[in-house]
Amino acid sequence: MYDIAIIGGGPAGLTAAIYAGRSKRKPILFTGSNIGGQISLTFQVENYPGFPESITGPDLVEKMTAQAKKFGAEIDERTVTGVDLSSHPYRLMIGEEVIVAKSVIIATGSNNRLLGLESEERFMGRGVFVCATCDAVIYEDLKVVAVGGGDSAVQEALDITKYAREVEIVHRGKEFTASNYLKKEALKNERIKIRFNAVVEEILGEDYVSGVRIRDTLTGEETVIETDGVLIAIGWTPNSELFKGQLELMDNGGIVADDVRTSKQGVFVAGDINDDKYRQLVTACGSGCRAAIEVDRFLARG
Ligand SMILES: Cc1cc2nc3c(=O)[nH]c(=O)nc-3n(C[C@H](O)[C@H](O)[C@H](O)COP(=O)(O)OP(=O)(O)OC[C@H]3O[C@@H](n4cnc5c(N)ncnc54)[C@H](O)[C@@H]3O)c2cc1C
Repeated sequence: MYDIAIIGGGPAGLTAAIYAGRSKRKPILFTGSNIGGQISLTFQVENYPGFPESITGPDLVEKMTAQAKKFGAEIDERTVTGVDLSSHPYRLMIGEEVIVAKSVIIATGSNNRLLGLESEERFMGRGVFVCATCDAVIYEDLKVVAVGGGDSAVQEALDITKYAREVEIVHRGKEFTASNYLKKEALKNERIKIRFNAVVEEILGEDYVSGVRIRDTLTGEETVIETDGVLIAIGWTPNSELFKGQLELMDNGGIVADDVRTSKQGVFVAGDINDDKYRQLVTACGSGCRAAIEVDRFLARG
């Protein structure tokens, strides 16, 4: 019987493991196949406090993992394949194996939706990016194409204009689905150009992105836009499939919760899985910390 089982080995889960370990709770943390989570995909992290010279994603993950182990966390690289939260203590299935825990922290993160192009995968981190707050600074005085038309696409396009000389939004619809406020801001921003009724067919370049080929969905006409970067901002999917039927889910796939507390006693949620606003390392770590403190208080109550 474990005191705490943490599902997810990204920044939220690892932070929860550090805090739970320091509270002498000996947590077990399942990382799944993506050890370190989304940040392990990035070469340079410039906005995580304490690293003024920047740090690579994999190095940061290595440090967080070492810190969690130092305080007694057991790190298991397997994937949790099922959960039974219908009665306490809770059960986690890892293939045929079942483990039992008094409390669970869900930190399974989310996946950015992508266009599904081979070229998009090839240029990921080499001109293709998914987080404006993280990468906009790279595009100082350059041109960026932003794909999408919802709140996050338009907000992120606006954010990039602080650096880029031009942002061209390519949106498949005939108008934005973003809020009226964001629409107005985009329309009056001189650095933003907009193409409605257009889809990206291919991302072009040699080693780095140099352009995108787009198709007008009304006329079928294809055009090449020269660009230095491509932001894909067409949404994300919370990794909550495992909890269907066990916990109440929101329309967007997140888990219904009051901050980190779900409706089940002793089951907490942290990180990007439930964050549709900030989706940053520090915010994921912050909620991992809150979840671990809540777990400690829950366990102390007996
Ligand atoms: C390319 C890229 C660059 C980024 N750069 C920055 C940056 O510079 N600065 C910044 O602040 N933020 C950055 N971000 C955002 C940041 O990485 C995320 O906000 C953060 O990783 C979210 O952490 P998380 O722990 O909630 O989830 P994730 O990082 O998504 O981790 C989820 C974890 O859950 C595991 N998991 C899922 N299902 C299971 C299961 N069934 N069993 C076991 N484990 C499971 C996964 O394997 C993974 O380990 C970047 C994101 C991307 C994609």
